Amino acid sequence: MQFNRLRLNGFKSFVDPTDLIISPGLTGVVGPNGCGKSNLLEALRWIMGENRPTAMRGAGMEDVIFAGTTSRGARHFAEVALIIDNSDRVAPAGFNDSDTLEIIRRITRDAGSAYKVNGREVRARDVQMLFADASTGAHSPALVRQGQISELINARPKARRRVLEEAAGISGLYQRRHEAELK
Ligand code: ATP
Ligand code: MG
Repeated sequence: MQFNRLRLNGFKSFVDPTDLIISPGLTGVVGPNGCGKSNLLEALRWIMGENRPTAMRGAGMEDVIFAGTTSRGARHFAEVALIIDNSDRVAPAGFNDSDTLEIIRRITRDAGSAYKVNGREVRARDVQMLFADASTGAHSPALVRQGQISELINARPKARRRVLEEAAGISGLYQRRHEAELK
């Protein structure tokens, strides 16, 4: 599963539509302080189903919507799209009928988030599972927050184990078992 493109519209500082091509070999994003590097990573987490506003450095999820500046008004919605190469067909059943997956998450003020995969409305859970099965996702160890390394070193064994399970790609199975036990 290869991420090909990330499109942002009204997400945090990316008020104008922005199309980021993720070519193989991309190893870094550089730019001056405050230009939006961390916002890009947060957009990746958000499209993978992150539902904790604090992980987006906000108080509420609507804080990801462009809040306006002295010269530009605030926006009413934010949208992020992630285009994935699925030619190796590793996506879970139900998403595996095409070589490319376009996942879109849109949040509208007072109306919350909605997700689509290739134009079809899906639940947040479906998107979270799609990435959990591919050993990535909003809580993936591939996305390292500032301070996270020292957190890991000081973590209790149980918390450290969760990180290893996520890396091994089995956290989706745990989530399914947990849901089955609740039924
Ligand atoms: P650094 O090098 O300091 O880590 P960075 O490139 O990671 O900087 P970000 O933290 O991604 O920068 O971007 C911060 C900018 O995004 C700030 O200018 C902040 O005002 C802006 N920003 C964050 N949320 C919003 C929002 N909802 N609306 C408008 N601007 C926002
Ligand atoms: Mg930053």
